[in-house]
Amino acid sequence: VKPWLGEPQNTIAVLQKYGFVFQKKYGQNFLIDPHVLDKIVAAAGIGPDDFVVEIGPGIGTLTQYLAYAARSVCAVEIDKNLIPILEDTLSDYDNVEVINNDVLKVDLAALAKEKNNGRPIKVVANLPYYITTPIIMGLFENHVPVDSITVMVQKEVADRMQTGPGSKDYGALSLAVQYYAEPYIVANVPPNCFMPRPKVGSAVIRLTRHEVMPVETKNEKLMFSIIRASFNQRRKTLANGLKNSELLHFSKEEIEAAITACGWPLTIRGEALNLQEFARLTDELCK
Ligand code: SAM
Repeated sequence: VKPWLGEPQNTIAVLQKYGFVFQKKYGQNFLIDPHVLDKIVAAAGIGPDDFVVEIGPGIGTLTQYLAYAARSVCAVEIDKNLIPILEDTLSDYDNVEVINNDVLKVDLAALAKEKNNGRPIKVVANLPYYITTPIIMGLFENHVPVDSITVMVQKEVADRMQTGPGSKDYGALSLAVQYYAEPYIVANVPPNCFMPRPKVGSAVIRLTRHEVMPVETKNEKLMFSIIRASFNQRRKTLANGLKNSELLHFSKEEIEAAITACGWPLTIRGEALNLQEFARLTDELCK
């Protein structure tokens, strides 16, 4: 059975059949463009051996494409009103399991262990935009064995994940994503590919997990506290940002000594530093 929900008229028919009411609080914007759906599955590189986790299947549009290409799909959906619809739209596929829960409450590492023998999984989703960052950071920080994450996000968030120093979009999210993965923007997607149309532009981004971490640091947790402190107060110098942060407990002297030891002027701003430089500063502060 081929996927068929990507066609707008089929989506409309399903929504009418069940009298489905969109819930704004869940970020429900369903895909209605087969080309975009093909592109997501191709970018994710799904093959017949893959175990795929989908976050927020909606009425099962992308799920059908994933089930068609993968060995097995597990889809986590928070909205209980969608569960009977998914039973219907996915009834032709025997390799899909739907879990009715908040994805932030699901132990995806345990799921990967149970369903895929702990081997790396692929995450594919048209994400609910109100929780993009916690979902992505949760996957990395909870050590879920992921091979790649291919997701639809708000265009501006995709730009933030991919950019480096010198861009206004550069920040803590850029550094966290790039520490764990190689980001690649696959496609920009306009609002008319969704129902209802979102107010913002969207993009598909693929994050491929690094096999070898791009930098080494003596204290990963401290490095991310330093990164967050540096970007909390954008217009301040790095030294002031670190001094005034509740995340850190270094004296003015310790901070200035570490910056000087790195060979930087005390007027330097956090947004000028790349990942290697944040790792270096962290190691100086560990001394
Ligand atoms: N995958 C479908 C598609 O592409 O047409 C729907 C995508 S829609 C942008 C996001 C979906 O995520 C909705 O079905 C929404 O109910 C679901 N969702 C929102 N918050 C969630 C959460 N915390 N956990 C799991 N699913 C969630």
